Amino acid sequence: MTISRHIALRAYYYGTWPYRRWAFKQAAARGQIPISILFYHRVADYSPNDWTISNERFKRQVRWLQRNFDLISLEEAQRRLRERASARPAVCLTFDDGYADNCTHALPLLADAGIPCTYFVSSRFVQDQRPFPHDVIRNQPLAPNTIDQLRGLVRAGIEIGAHTRTHLNLASVTDPSQLRDEIVAPRSELEAWLDCTVRYFAFPYGQLQDISQLAMRVARDAGYQGVCSAYGGYNMPTADPFHLRRIHGDPLMIRIKNWLTIDPRQPAIVRRLEQKFTWLDPTSRVDGTPS
Ligand SMILES: [Zn+2]
Repeated sequence: MTISRHIALRAYYYGTWPYRRWAFKQAAARGQIPISILFYHRVADYSPNDWTISNERFKRQVRWLQRNFDLISLEEAQRRLRERASARPAVCLTFDDGYADNCTHALPLLADAGIPCTYFVSSRFVQDQRPFPHDVIRNQPLAPNTIDQLRGLVRAGIEIGAHTRTHLNLASVTDPSQLRDEIVAPRSELEAWLDCTVRYFAFPYGQLQDISQLAMRVARDAGYQGVCSAYGGYNMPTADPFHLRRIHGDPLMIRIKNWLTIDPRQPAIVRRLEQKFTWLDPTSRVDGTPS
């Protein structure tokens, strides 16, 4: 981000603070505070890229989150949404892909602090121990998690979720058996390896155009408790809690602060985006502003 963009964002954040406070109070009084779910990929101090945040920045974000939010599991978020019992600010933490580096500092930090986290992995890369193609292309063959590491995470209280077998973009897959191979099979594999129950699924890439109605239906029919997208947006107590919207765990603290304290622009932006996509069931759309 350029310095001028950074200054503009800070000005926007502080300039809209009165609105944020007012919107928060209104939503709290109705038990309808939007719940934010962050997704990270990799926390490490070497080989930086667009999906890596440094250990220090991650630690600072976690400390700020601890001071200002209930840090809750996806299950607890769904309960609050379903019961319209969201009277306290709350955030969930998730990770996608499954990078070995996360086991060095980030995940032990969360586990030691008792902070719930759902960790989505693509099972084929764990099994084969080969790097993701999107890293190989950039000449960064980063190591995926091993099965032993994932077993350690389960023991430490981290929830494991499925993120397909091969990190395939599912939007263009129309063959139901291939969809089941990417959505249902990794759950069975992970459950067999880790002796745990896999309840959540995260769509690779996770933008609106990366998700189809058919893929959504396969995930629902497979009995997942919830699925995660990654195009931003809040989770409102008025929407179907099966589909959980997630916000990027940006390395910049000002962006995180802006998004998580009821950005006045967010609901309208997401609503406009969602209207263009027919796969999104009308009952699961964001249909209200937090105010
Ligand atoms: Zn991914």
